[in-house]
Amino acid sequence: MAGTIPVWTPPALAIAGTADTFPVRRIFCVGRNYVEHQKEMGGDGREAPFWFIKSAHALVAGGGNVHYPPKTANYHYETEMVVALARGGRRIAVADANAHVFGYAVGLDMTRRDLQQWGKDHGRPWDFGKDFDEAAPCGALAPAAKIGHPAKGAIWLRVNGKERQKADLSDMIWNVPEQIAYLSQYYTLEPGDIIFSGTPAGVGPVQPGDELHAGIDGVGELKAKIMPAL
Ligand code: MN
Repeated sequence: MAGTIPVWTPPALAIAGTADTFPVRRIFCVGRNYVEHQKEMGGDGREAPFWFIKSAHALVAGGGNVHYPPKTANYHYETEMVVALARGGRRIAVADANAHVFGYAVGLDMTRRDLQQWGKDHGRPWDFGKDFDEAAPCGALAPAAKIGHPAKGAIWLRVNGKERQKADLSDMIWNVPEQIAYLSQYYTLEPGDIIFSGTPAGVGPVQPGDELHAGIDGVGELKAKIMPAL
């Protein structure tokens, strides 16, 4: 059947150490999932996880040049571990969740903080603050078959060589199996879905010319350079 427009290639992540790629279906993101970041954003205690979604179109596979987005004066980084699902399902038990994971990567949940704040203040959606062009740089996936399921280890970000974020995966309020189990109560998860598992404290603004270097010990690294707006 003839289409009206060309079918695009699904966004895909590299798989470390191979020539294979991992096609991405949806990007789920959890908010305020590290205690110190929850505090810096004004939270208190262990509330239920809350979520937002980015388009797969927002991926910047492998990082590299990332353009300063339009309509913001407060463009922030958030360093996160990304979890890629090889198997979907609904109502997945916490104890079974890791078996659904293909692998892990380092990602940046880039945020137009002023637009997100406007949404919070006005009871409006976060989409314009979180889901925009190039809002999800993400490094290569390290397969769980090689590295296991990291539940501890340093997660860090340097901007122009200066440390801006530093925490441990074990500081997550809701760990990865709990996140998968929770999401699967609300969605039928599918192969290719990925999860941004939350950022530690230390979020802040970047400007064109800034160089971001993020990493998670045992998982991988990601570099991005902020370019002038298109
Ligand atoms: Mn985030």
